[in-house]
Amino acid sequence: MNILERYHAMDYGPAPEARNEADAWLAARDFSKALFIGGDWKAGDGKTFDTSDPASGKLLAKVSDAGAADIHAAVSAATKALPKWSASSGYSRAKVLYAIGRAMQRHQRLFAVLESIDNGKPIRESRDIDVPLAIRHFIHHAGWAQALDRDFPDQKGVGVVGQIIPWNFPLLMLAWKIAPALAAGCTVVLKPAEFTPLTAILFAEICQRAGVPKGVVNIVQGGPEAGAAIVNHPGVQKIAFTGSSEVGKIIRKATAGSGKKISLELGGKSAFVVFEDADLDSAVEGLVDGIWFNQGQVCCAGSRLLVQEGITEAFIAKVKARMSRLRVGSPLDKNTDIGPLVDLTQLDRVKGLVAEGAKQGAVCWQPDVALPSTGYYHLPTLATGVSPANILAQEEVFGPVLATMTFRNTEEAIELANNTRYGLAASVWSENVNLALHVAPQLKAGVVWVNGTNMFDAACGFGGYRESGFGREGGREGMFEYLSANLPLGPVVKPAPATAQPVERSESDVIDRTAKLFIGGKQVRPDGNYSLDIATAKGKLAGEVGLGSRKDIRDAVAAARACRAWPEATAYNRSQVLYYLAENLSGRAGEFAARLTELTGATAKAARDEVEQSIERLFLYAGLADKFEGRVHQPPARAVTLALHEPVGVVGIVASDNAPLLGLISLVAPALAMGNTVVAVPSEKYPLLATDLYQVIEYSDVPAGAINIVTGRSAELAGVLAKHDDVDGLWLFADAETCARAEADSVGNLKRVWTGNGRSLDWTSAEAAGDALLRRAVEVKNVWVPYGD
Ligand code: NAD
Repeated sequence: MNILERYHAMDYGPAPEARNEADAWLAARDFSKALFIGGDWKAGDGKTFDTSDPASGKLLAKVSDAGAADIHAAVSAATKALPKWSASSGYSRAKVLYAIGRAMQRHQRLFAVLESIDNGKPIRESRDIDVPLAIRHFIHHAGWAQALDRDFPDQKGVGVVGQIIPWNFPLLMLAWKIAPALAAGCTVVLKPAEFTPLTAILFAEICQRAGVPKGVVNIVQGGPEAGAAIVNHPGVQKIAFTGSSEVGKIIRKATAGSGKKISLELGGKSAFVVFEDADLDSAVEGLVDGIWFNQGQVCCAGSRLLVQEGITEAFIAKVKARMSRLRVGSPLDKNTDIGPLVDLTQLDRVKGLVAEGAKQGAVCWQPDVALPSTGYYHLPTLATGVSPANILAQEEVFGPVLATMTFRNTEEAIELANNTRYGLAASVWSENVNLALHVAPQLKAGVVWVNGTNMFDAACGFGGYRESGFGREGGREGMFEYLSANLPLGPVVKPAPATAQPVERSESDVIDRTAKLFIGGKQVRPDGNYSLDIATAKGKLAGEVGLGSRKDIRDAVAAARACRAWPEATAYNRSQVLYYLAENLSGRAGEFAARLTELTGATAKAARDEVEQSIERLFLYAGLADKFEGRVHQPPARAVTLALHEPVGVVGIVASDNAPLLGLISLVAPALAMGNTVVAVPSEKYPLLATDLYQVIEYSDVPAGAINIVTGRSAELAGVLAKHDDVDGLWLFADAETCARAEADSVGNLKRVWTGNGRSLDWTSAEAAGDALLRRAVEVKNVWVPYGD
């Protein structure tokens, strides 16, 4: 054998990471007292659950399982600690966060080894990715704690936060949750997943060492029951959840009407799009990271490979060759690429999905690699011939399984990529930056990586669209999840009377006018051909409006969805249209003021003021349309991150009777300014102010379908909007019961619902205008663009 042959024959020897420190930590700990409540270790009621090593199946520890009383004790401890912690200076909170980060750094290797033993992830990943990123999160958020007053004036921490995390990145998800909460002055009760409790226990020890005041961080162990007890506890003001879409929906339903703020980071089925001009070797390496990182148990795993037809054969050949060289083995071996799945149940689930995918026509290929004799290992799997409806193309497998599809052109790539109920992340591979940046904004995903994958940073927001949940973690937008603006409230919204109030009719020689609905730029009759009598303040008939129904809402949503001209218009263009609306409303100010007086009984001055403020508000949002922009982040990587503001999509708006013109315009204008299309249900009692707007809209160059108005019974129409899966956001100022029902009914597509919980806002206040509403009108999409050779 010559030297070259020897060189090629060389293989990696074993390179095991020592586990003696971790074993010593495990041996020394009393896991029957693993609940960290009020700064002390508690046993709970004596129940325990097992946590095992997925590489061997061996028991690691029997960990105390929190019952409802323990959750209550943890929430009470957090409540007790809240006043002092939230009142402490940003500087003192910053010092605590910094101390946590530094203490974690000092025990970095123990964290990494424990994580790999408990979860099965390769040590290379826990050592180089999970733990350093978790530390970075605390140190980054120390800065936010101190900058709170400067960067978030008028905001304050939401209070006691319940946080529930999954098992795939136990320490990293903990950091994503705890760091921003503490920075915002909140106290927390966090529950790790039942498969992976260990690093959270070590983290609680770190909190003790770093001087975190007692009760500020409480960590409770347990499964779904403990999680549900946190969700339902009345002492919790916010729930931050990361996990499956299924449980996310349960939480959305359970918290409906409670007034709890929620953020949901859920599952994904992310597209990995390779154009024919991509650097194929880099794309293959990216793909390895995209789908086989952490055995594919990654919410944003690039589990759908979309390849342009011309390069499919060459690319798949490269992928197979690379897969054959992936090293499957012990998580503690520094050369391991793929470790075991977290648990036998997960392994069985993945096997079941692969078998079903094959039954539905996919060709599943696996490399000829030996698996270790023990542990929950699954070979990396490539599925080709996958139809878009195949279970492997639609369901989140959460395992090392890649589904491949092909596309012919850019439009088809975008369509396929968006053909999913999820919207977490996507990767776009092309050497043509123009193409990549043309495609990125069209992908319905919260994060898009150009020529890269799985890039994360504490300064850059992460989170999804659609059924991948709502809210962001990291960055400025992540801080908002733990803050509240306390907008000045308006009156309580009372439910409308069940039966129509009698209206006095009088003979009139004025030509009869019927206010219709406004859908797709046209005045149309309601589908049911019924009308509602609208009374003046004196109980006389002021006019009749169409009684909108489910069918009308459906038509309006379809028109709003079909309107591409508005979201695709430039911000400058939208700004001019909003100015024009203001101009045209101003031209008829007297008429609107008279209408307000006639309907509501407002004094002439009060009516003039409301109209004037409505015009001013249109002006405000016209001006902000091209100013409420995203940012550029510079993460510690050779990349920039473009945090773009994108419209939420189709936004349903239900206005209350309080300030019927100003209230409606205060909601519709910011939504429009950011490029959303709107289906508005105006005040049920005073809808004529909205129907009078039809002509103003018609004269103002608003594209057909950008604004749709359906008059009728607010509660009924709100329910239809809440259930409609093509409505992306719903802003609701209705009675408390309608608000609660709408929140519960919104689970179908997990639309972003904002309600007043039975209160209106004080629309005359300065706080109810500007950024507070614009933030609700956008999704932040982070597009990562690497640079350099
Ligand atoms: P899961 O939803 O089963 O469990 C997540 C957590 O919720 C666990 O702590 C669990 O004990 C708890 N839980 C379960 N039922 C509950 C209930 N009814 N009420 C309250 N809490 C309950 O998810 P998993 O299997 O642990 O994690 C995998 C999922 O997490 C995947 O879908 C993945 O995509 C998702 N995930 C998302 C992100 C993200 O940022 N979007 C990150 C990581 C993982």
